Amino acid sequence: MGVDVGQSPPPLAVSDFEAIPKPRSGGVCALARLPLSPKDRVVLDEILFRRPEITGKAIAQVLADHKIVVSFQTVNRHRRGDCYCSRP
Ligand SMILES: [Zn+2]
Repeated sequence: MGVDVGQSPPPLAVSDFEAIPKPRSGGVCALARLPLSPKDRVVLDEILFRRPEITGKAIAQVLADHKIVVSFQTVNRHRRGDCYCSRP
């Protein structure tokens, strides 16, 4: 059958968005909380913010090889500035 007009999604409401909990302000994301030495942190920041050709997946893989578990989604979010760290 064709388009089922009886199944249109419910309308969006502002309250739908407000109902989603906000990240805790002043917090930092899992990536910022990784147990890295200051030296390792410098290297990681360099890769994250100066080497865009290295993918979040590759970064997560290298970290995993160093027994540091973080998802590539977390890496990408931190890179985009879309994580807790960037919230006021
Ligand atoms: Zn972050």
